[in-house]
Amino acid sequence: MNQNTRQTNKSVGVIGAGYTGLTVGYRLAMQGYDVTIYEKSPLTGGLVAGFEMDGIPLERAYHFIYTTDHEVINLAKEVGVDQNLSFHDSNVSTYYDGKLYPFMTPLDLLRFTPLSIIDRIRTGLVGFYLQKLTNWKPLTQVTAYDWLNKWNGKKATEIIWTPLLKGKFDHYYDKVTMCWLWSRIHVRANSKDSTQEKLGYMTGGFRVLTDKMTTDIESNGGNVYTSSDISHISSEDDGRVTVHTANSDTTKTFDHVVATTPSHVLAALTKDHPDMTQKYATQLTSIDYIGAAVMIFSTDQEISDYYWHNINDERIPFLVLLSKTSLSGKESTGGRYLYYIGDYVTHDHRYFSMDKKDIMSEWKQGLKTMFPHFDESQIVSEELFTFRNAQHIVDIGYEDKMPSYKTPIKNLYLANFSQIFPDDRGINYAVKEGEMIAQMIEKNAPWPVTDND
Ligand SMILES: Cc1cc2nc3c(=O)[nH]c(=O)nc-3n(C[C@H](O)[C@H](O)[C@H](O)COP(=O)(O)OP(=O)(O)OC[C@H]3O[C@@H](n4cnc5c(N)ncnc54)[C@H](O)[C@@H]3O)c2cc1C
Repeated sequence: MNQNTRQTNKSVGVIGAGYTGLTVGYRLAMQGYDVTIYEKSPLTGGLVAGFEMDGIPLERAYHFIYTTDHEVINLAKEVGVDQNLSFHDSNVSTYYDGKLYPFMTPLDLLRFTPLSIIDRIRTGLVGFYLQKLTNWKPLTQVTAYDWLNKWNGKKATEIIWTPLLKGKFDHYYDKVTMCWLWSRIHVRANSKDSTQEKLGYMTGGFRVLTDKMTTDIESNGGNVYTSSDISHISSEDDGRVTVHTANSDTTKTFDHVVATTPSHVLAALTKDHPDMTQKYATQLTSIDYIGAAVMIFSTDQEISDYYWHNINDERIPFLVLLSKTSLSGKESTGGRYLYYIGDYVTHDHRYFSMDKKDIMSEWKQGLKTMFPHFDESQIVSEELFTFRNAQHIVDIGYEDKMPSYKTPIKNLYLANFSQIFPDDRGINYAVKEGEMIAQMIEKNAPWPVTDND
């Protein structure tokens, strides 16, 4: 299909070329819509955007998918890149008080000696209960920190859970609801082949899928503009929506516009719009986001052969260490060992103003503490990326804050990961949300907003 055989003369503008924006754009371009995507950064892919290290295509932030991520798996099949997707055995460890413990099976938990035997059994029972629980609603009313202290006990919460909550949410660690943690445990427990956890990765990186969607949009007559920062949104008398780019006087008017930016960014883009309501604007700005810093390095030295290392030791200045080589094999990492280190931090954290080299230096010191045999001189390449809007805070009363997909501004939609609930964010949910918005546009249901939108 190309512009000459369009099934509709409707136009759609999409703000953001992450997986939500690319999916909306791809689906509607395939249906004959005239699609234009504006992406602020020089790259498509959003949080999944890639880069190259030693000639190997990688993601800036570590990414994998679960076997239950059907939407993205089906999309990869549809665009013809599923042959690049394969699932690998994962293994998880926990670093605590100077020692690395395997942390995958019930037997590993029974051997986790920092906890008393009673606390180990209790932790196993709590984990089992959360994996099987389906009625998550009551968990929205209690923080993970309080729930775990009550049901898993103070010691297990202190040793196992609090370091992970602090690493993931910084000073919001005692604000996040138990529902968020439940959804993480639930989805992860289901991505298994019998008892072995399986995680999916693409040969050539997720860039293969990102690039194929982009090319398919373009070959169906659409445009994907990178380095195009949208500064504000206005409306025409006939209800069509106009987007304005920041660094030039370019404007374009569309029948529908979909913003896939973080919620507070949409609040800024529409702050002067007469139809924006106080209620919706407050919802947009009341959702807090935190950022992340991620270091990637290649080395000739094998540091650890676990894939995932949870860091439960306050002396180590990061949340997680991942060995990509352990997950997808040495051939996928150019014959070297490739590691990711990650940490989540609030927007006022010093990482956002520090020299990247200094952050990497602190983190390498942390690695040396964990693995005394770690030899920095064997590092071949290293890089560090920061992300400002990496994760939203799912706190008590979150459901009331969630903005609807249809905004108060006619023909303007919002779709981002803050509207995914109770599931956590992820590539699969971005694809799911993108597909759903494409369907809403195709149905062209009437505005204004109802409670069901
Ligand atoms: C460290 C880390 C690890 C992760 N690991 C995994 C994982 O293993 N598996 C998984 O499934 N998910 C993972 N995720 C989550 C996953 O990356 C996201 O859920 C998903 O990419 C969200 O896609 P999106 O399109 O909704 O948002 P984004 O990817 O954030 O895309 C939004 C886009 O909008 C653009 N934008 C913003 N403002 C403007 C503007 N004014 N004008 C134009 N463009 C604008 C942004 O530049 C961005 O590209 C991880 C995330 C992080 C941070």
